[in-house]
Amino acid sequence: MLQRTAQLFRIRVTSQMQSALTNAPDDPVAAQFLPTSQELTGDGLSDPIGDNAHAPVPGLTHRYPDRVILHVTKTCDVYCRFCFRRETVGETGPLAPQQLDAALDYIAATSTIREVILTGGDPLTLSLRRLHMVLTRLDALNHVQMVRFHTRVPVVAPDRITPELVELLASLRMTAWMVIHTNHAQELTPPARKALRLMADAGIPLLSQSVLLRKINDSHDALQDLFTTLSALRVKPYYLHHCDLARGAGHFRTTIAAGRALMQGLRGPLPGHCLPTYVLDIPGGFGKVPVTADHFTEISPGRWRVTDWQGAAHDYLDPED
Ligand code: SF4
Repeated sequence: MLQRTAQLFRIRVTSQMQSALTNAPDDPVAAQFLPTSQELTGDGLSDPIGDNAHAPVPGLTHRYPDRVILHVTKTCDVYCRFCFRRETVGETGPLAPQQLDAALDYIAATSTIREVILTGGDPLTLSLRRLHMVLTRLDALNHVQMVRFHTRVPVVAPDRITPELVELLASLRMTAWMVIHTNHAQELTPPARKALRLMADAGIPLLSQSVLLRKINDSHDALQDLFTTLSALRVKPYYLHHCDLARGAGHFRTTIAAGRALMQGLRGPLPGHCLPTYVLDIPGGFGKVPVTADHFTEISPGRWRVTDWQGAAHDYLDPED
């Protein structure tokens, strides 16, 4: 089974995450990184959030007018079993020089772009030399005001957050935002906390992004613990994502109603600064919307009509169970 799963989806866990494992049968860290036979069953999409539908040049996604996603690398330090890019992460390393040039030329020629989001893969797996080169080229484009990293590195490989890296980020003309991907407080080990402190002390704004994952963090206590721990570490909980329709990840999905009930139950017990926005990335590349009555209408049990940011309607189905 393991061999078959490994042929379909890459497997990698850092020593930091191995040290965070417990022997509990439903360990929330193990369930995120260790493969199971459930990945071999069920449907799903190879590009659930539609990156490819909005790619003006390879390696760049331009979905919203004022910001782009630059996929600087396809490598990650861990391969999460629910990853929405699981069929492409790890297949190559950093973006090829010609592709990077084309992406940067596109950004340079598009003056409406105010923010560049670095992702992949994980942008903080790049060497300091390569990061310096990419950031220096972006920093020279005056219309780019912000660079945003989406990364799991501070949690899964905190040793990569060095004083040199932090100094580079703090020295930019653009504001560097750091969005930390983390799904359970058990991942926030002492070295991870130290890495977050280093960045917070340097004045780098920190946000978090989590995925709502069945049997990992779909409980009041797990989410409360995660969000309050992050807030105490000066990381503002930003988004709680409804789990995407990635292939072989159906067993991680909850229903929309379950996610809403969890968020509703946290409003009151938690202060507002601990509460992220619960969002769905509409399958097919139609963007993110908050899971609120403004955007979601239940047409029949488990079947939703979702209105995107441009007013178009899409059908969305809960998992069968
Ligand atoms: S770190 Fe992010 S991009 Fe990499 S496998 Fe995990 S979810 Fe996917």
